[in-house]
Amino acid sequence: MELSEYNKLPLKELKELLARLKKEKDAIILAHNYQRAEIQEVADFLGDSLGLARKACEVSSRIIVFAGVRFMAETAKILNPSRKVLLPDLYAGCPLADCAPIEALREFKKKYPDYTYVAYVNSSVEVKAEVDIVCTSGNAVQLIQSLPSKKIVFLPDKNLANYVKRFVKDKEIIAWDGGCYVHTKINLKHIDEARKKYPGAKIIVHPEAPPEVVDASDGAFSTEGIINYVKGSEDPVVVGTEIGIIDRIKREAPGKIVYPLKADALCGNMKMITLPKLVWSLDVEKFEIEIPEEIRTRAYQSIWRMLELTKK
Ligand code: SF4
Repeated sequence: MELSEYNKLPLKELKELLARLKKEKDAIILAHNYQRAEIQEVADFLGDSLGLARKACEVSSRIIVFAGVRFMAETAKILNPSRKVLLPDLYAGCPLADCAPIEALREFKKKYPDYTYVAYVNSSVEVKAEVDIVCTSGNAVQLIQSLPSKKIVFLPDKNLANYVKRFVKDKEIIAWDGGCYVHTKINLKHIDEARKKYPGAKIIVHPEAPPEVVDASDGAFSTEGIINYVKGSEDPVVVGTEIGIIDRIKREAPGKIVYPLKADALCGNMKMITLPKLVWSLDVEKFEIEIPEEIRTRAYQSIWRMLELTKK
């Protein structure tokens, strides 16, 4: 059946078909917190990059369908290569990851050879293979603090690098000049408006937001950190990140009051994954993530170092 046929199916039928296919094909759905509400509802595991990476390690199902962007599906394949990993849309890339092409990184390393290279998980598999260690927004500070090196190059997110610098004062950290188009568009005007509109509410943001926004907020957290903050808050919370997270919070903590800081903070790349595409992907087993073994092994070491260093 063509993808266009799946687009015509009613929601109930799509969900039933997905359940049947999952059983028949021994598949599991991993989804990021920024996915559409209907994808979040059918996911077997929902999380941020770190949670998804940890989950990917332990999956025993034959197929992982990854509802997220390409680097996330690659990470699942790097960590669990004997599973078949599917990404429902090959064009669902991450523009932040694209800010660090592998050729540019190799040139940079020639200029700064004696630095430790730390790549945010939002990076390509080739970049992960080339750096010393990988981090996520949830563990970047702890991880860089624990590294023996005093000279760090952090890529590709400049705002996250600057966020880390607030806590790590004894190291030189060179920030790569990259950014996420969803978070860099959050500005002080949004904070001012939210303070007026929701007096008494806490405002929290993702560390990919600009430094002045982080300063003006009540705290910066990874997506999983944001969810935990809202769950534990007695006050209403305004969240400055991709708005898909609000669907998860409303489902898991229905009593909590949560507002978006920027109502149109949408990642078009994440939203490329639709429910019909997800079901189609599993049915036809496309698009399979394939990584040359030599690159995968090196990328694995960079991710594994992170998982070891930040073991709970
Ligand atoms: S929200 Fe930003 S960092 Fe996340 S996938 Fe979209 S572009 Fe990439």
